[in-house]
Amino acid sequence: MTTAKPHVVVIGAGFAGLNCARRLKRAPVEVTVVDRGTSHLFQPLLYQCATGLLSEGAISSPIRHLLRRQRNADVALGEARSIDPAARTVTVNRIDGSSFSLRYDHLVVAAGMRTSYRGNEELAAHAPGMKTLDDALAIRRKIIGAFEMAESIEDDVDLQRAWLTFAVAGGGPAGVELAGQIRELATLALEREFRTIDPDHARVLLLHGGDRVLPAFDATLSADAQRTLDRLGVETHLGVHVTDVGADFVETTAKAEPREVIRYPARTVLWTTGVEAAPFAGAVADALGVETDRAGRIPVRPDLSVDGHPNVWVIGDVSALDDLPGVAEVAMQGGWHVGRMIGGLAAGGTARPAFRYRDLGSAAYIARRQAVVQAGRIRLSGYPGWLAWGVIHIAFLAGIRNRLGTVATWGATLLTDSRRERAITYGDPETARHPYS
Ligand SMILES: Cc1cc2nc3c(=O)[nH]c(=O)nc-3n(C[C@H](O)[C@H](O)[C@H](O)COP(=O)(O)OP(=O)(O)OC[C@H]3O[C@@H](n4cnc5c(N)ncnc54)[C@H](O)[C@@H]3O)c2cc1C
Repeated sequence: MTTAKPHVVVIGAGFAGLNCARRLKRAPVEVTVVDRGTSHLFQPLLYQCATGLLSEGAISSPIRHLLRRQRNADVALGEARSIDPAARTVTVNRIDGSSFSLRYDHLVVAAGMRTSYRGNEELAAHAPGMKTLDDALAIRRKIIGAFEMAESIEDDVDLQRAWLTFAVAGGGPAGVELAGQIRELATLALEREFRTIDPDHARVLLLHGGDRVLPAFDATLSADAQRTLDRLGVETHLGVHVTDVGADFVETTAKAEPREVIRYPARTVLWTTGVEAAPFAGAVADALGVETDRAGRIPVRPDLSVDGHPNVWVIGDVSALDDLPGVAEVAMQGGWHVGRMIGGLAAGGTARPAFRYRDLGSAAYIARRQAVVQAGRIRLSGYPGWLAWGVIHIAFLAGIRNRLGTVATWGATLLTDSRRERAITYGDPETARHPYS
């Protein structure tokens, strides 16, 4: 594509890419945002979609809708596959396997991360990760399906117990939130709906390699979170690695000698531990002749451009700079920073200031009226933490409609204990992981 104004191609409409595109609204540039999906996804609430609290529509917003008033922005559905830095083109695959090419003056790589099984890809078949809407719906299908299976098996107590055992690998925010929500689903929403089983008997295992859950949080908050998980009935196992998963079991190996191996009969295993860069990052790094880090992230200069390639920028989770964490705030601020800088360069400026991240804190939901929030010296847990958590999440959800709808759903759930978003779809999670041929 040839345009009079510089053409900025943004790959990925997550927190980083969307903020970058929006910051360019009044800049003398043309923007094309390419994403493999049609919606901007609010990943921090994926677990609520997976456990039947929120619909997929509540946690995602159509990218075209979000950018509809930005006249210099265009949107393309497709998966970026490769770049040619000499020709300044990026090749994008369409969903039918055909491809097209976009010429760029500035390329912004904001493709995020995907679930990593650390070389054990075979685990994916039995233990879905939680990064995409497809993942959330696959997890919902597994969880809701497990209760239904247990209900229909009256003559085999062991099998019924295995269907009512849910294992969550990873004790970071996503794992803690998911484990807590499965227990809440079982003890509140499903409590009176089954005839054969008592959903309250659902056993939820939280399997974590570290010595405390929420290791990125202050130790007191992580202890508060642990107490809440204990009260909810989540069974936490610390200092263990998940070493094998099958259709009907999960196996853990203790990190400490004598490295005890335990196999739990469990029909639902969910994976929230470990991420790696989206494959496009590897293609970009190869084409630019830079080496990625162990997670596949692309190292960047302080201004977030790639060394030796001043018109290629990498932002959000997929960029590696100063050990900045893979959180939404870093992605949003990075997107804003690069958008502002490209706008300045397009207007004839030369400034390329270093990116300075302002840490606004982190939050994790544990259970209703229980969350932890850490911001600077502020430490909140319990009810105050939960209120702060709610305000933060609503503020960052894209679109007024999603905000109002989510507050209404949360209110209804608090009043009635019900969860209405329990429809399941029968898609194949493997196909969902690789929709582009
Ligand atoms: C379950 C979960 C809970 C989380 N909770 C929190 C939290 O509470 N607080 C917090 O701060 N952070 C949280 N995070 C992390 C946060 O969501 C990420 O840091 C953030 O999404 C990173 O933004 P990003 O724009 O870099 O990437 P993403 O948001 O992942 O967006 C990447 C985009 O790129 C697209 N894409 C990928 N490859 C291609 C390609 N080749 N071509 C075209 N498009 C492509 C994807 O479709 C996606 O839209 C959570 C993450 C998860 C998974």
